[in-house]
Amino acid sequence: MDFAPTDEQRMLLDGVDRFMARHLPPDEVRRRDADRDPPYFLLPLMGEMGLLGQTVPEDHGGSGGDWLTLALVQERMGYHAFMAVVLLNRVACFGIESILAGGSEEQRQEFLPALVRGEANFAMALTEPGAGSDAGGIRTRAAKTDGGWVINGRKTWISGAEAATRMVVACRSGDQPRGSRGVTMLLVPPGAKGVSMTRLEKVGNNCSLSWDIGFEDVFVRDDAVLGEPDAGFDVLRATLRFARAGLAASVVGVAQAAVDTALEHAQTREQFGRPIGSFQTIAHRLADMQTSVDLARLATYRLAWMIDQDLPCEREAAQAKLVATEALKSVSDEGMQIMASAGYAASSDMQRFWRDSRLYTFGEGSSEILRGLIARDMGL
Ligand SMILES: Cc1cc2nc3c(=O)[nH]c(=O)nc-3n(C[C@H](O)[C@H](O)[C@H](O)COP(=O)(O)OP(=O)(O)OC[C@H]3O[C@@H](n4cnc5c(N)ncnc54)[C@H](O)[C@@H]3O)c2cc1C
Repeated sequence: MDFAPTDEQRMLLDGVDRFMARHLPPDEVRRRDADRDPPYFLLPLMGEMGLLGQTVPEDHGGSGGDWLTLALVQERMGYHAFMAVVLLNRVACFGIESILAGGSEEQRQEFLPALVRGEANFAMALTEPGAGSDAGGIRTRAAKTDGGWVINGRKTWISGAEAATRMVVACRSGDQPRGSRGVTMLLVPPGAKGVSMTRLEKVGNNCSLSWDIGFEDVFVRDDAVLGEPDAGFDVLRATLRFARAGLAASVVGVAQAAVDTALEHAQTREQFGRPIGSFQTIAHRLADMQTSVDLARLATYRLAWMIDQDLPCEREAAQAKLVATEALKSVSDEGMQIMASAGYAASSDMQRFWRDSRLYTFGEGSSEILRGLIARDMGL
């Protein structure tokens, strides 16, 4: 495995730095976080720069590139602003990868070019009030009818639904009352008749809006099925693997930003006549923080490399997501301790990293569920 960035990748990452400095400088990140104002305007600009079609085959408008390059981009963009990379991830994972995993040729033609250009955007609607970690417990029902399906039920905590071209809605369709069989994925426009949306307030990730969504006799045509009827978990599993890879890479970027912010403070803040970083307790804390981020980065690159080799990597996806999100949780907490009142101020980036970090260790597979998956893969 060779993770040294190529000249081309270096140029791409320099381009990401310039892109973020121009379109979403740090003050604008803070302003949008305070105003809960997602930067959707970035998507077509990302599309123009070729950032969204990294893993899409060239005949569908992408660059047919690799996951390691995408992971590098996600990490760098996450370093500048999670609120930007979360939009890229939704397009790349819930849009592009779910269509690549289960889309018919017509769906590929319809959605892939628009997703690559940043003119379409998908949301994943899996979680329900009674089914979080236990995804097999979903009860939203899709009943087969003439020419299509009728959906009834409720989803909750769905991110970005307000701007989605389609929501990928996991519905129970078979006779099985629970479990991974008998689930069909349906592509539903948020504006479809019978869909109602209520915004949920929360403590972090302010620029990724969350929704409680009701479905009352919502009709979609047969061509809205993604993958095979009753076998929707096949699409879901493939999509989640990429979602975890993308989240891990993005979170490594945020974690590095948290370490750098704390380091700068430790080097400049003086108490007792010397920089606080010269106290061994602070210096060792920073050494541990950087080490945990570096280890998470390696797990993330290894996963991207394995995806590129087409190797089975559910365990490695779980491991990368686990170590990256736990690393961010711990370094943002330690960073807050190092910065003390300066980190607790509403104007500080550290408080945003710290608030945001609390989501990632349970969203898209909690640390407990991931440890269970890794243990099972070890034969336990
Ligand atoms: C801001 C935000 C955005 C989200 N975005 C989306 C989205 O876009 N789409 C979507 O579908 N969902 C989304 N979610 C939902 C998210 O994926 C769930 O919160 C997550 O799956 C956990 O479910 P839960 O919150 O119901 O917790 P629960 O499943 O109730 O878990 C509670 C606790 O019990 C633990 N636990 C549960 N089962 C076990 C077990 N078998 N062994 C050990 N421990 C266990 C969990 O690890 C956790 O610590 C979002 C959530 C939030 C808060």
